[in-house]
Amino acid sequence: MRQAFILAGTNLGDRKANLDFALNALEQGCTIKRASSCFETEPVGFLDQPWFYNQAIEFETRLSPSELLSLCQNIEFSRGRIRTFPNAPRFLDLDILFFGNLILEQENLIIPHPRIQERRFVLEPLAEIAPDFVHPVLKKTIRSLLETCLDKSRVRLASCPQNSDK
Ligand code: AMP
Repeated sequence: MRQAFILAGTNLGDRKANLDFALNALEQGCTIKRASSCFETEPVGFLDQPWFYNQAIEFETRLSPSELLSLCQNIEFSRGRIRTFPNAPRFLDLDILFFGNLILEQENLIIPHPRIQERRFVLEPLAEIAPDFVHPVLKKTIRSLLETCLDKSRVRLASCPQNSDK
């Protein structure tokens, strides 16, 4: 079993339901260890679109990295994902952040995800569930990457049932 982390993101439709759908679908092939709170995050890149909900998920899996990518893409498409342009609004986006300490650079799959350290909307949820995880390329903890992150876009806890249960 390998430990892996995914970031789920959504800014169309019922955002909380989309995140719950992703978690349930992942549970079919993987063992979920921890899921962060739902964070509401300001769009980055293409700004004229609704704010996102983001959630980091830690799980264990027997899938290979490419099988995991296929699973993520199947889950995205079964939740109505249509590819339009980069940073476009989406019902569901699943990015593989880490796959154990694996470092992989393929045409269709780069692990660790190359923009983790640039994005507050990734680091805040990840820091909630894995502050001491060490980025295998940058050799820094998630906590330290968050402290030095230059992205000033806004990230706040979403007001949704899962968060108020905490
Ligand atoms: P996006 O539009 O942000 O969902 O990007 C999806 C594309 O990024 C897909 O074609 C993937 O093959 C590619 N990709 C590369 N590395 C990763 C990764 N670590 N996690 C998810 N998708 C990835």
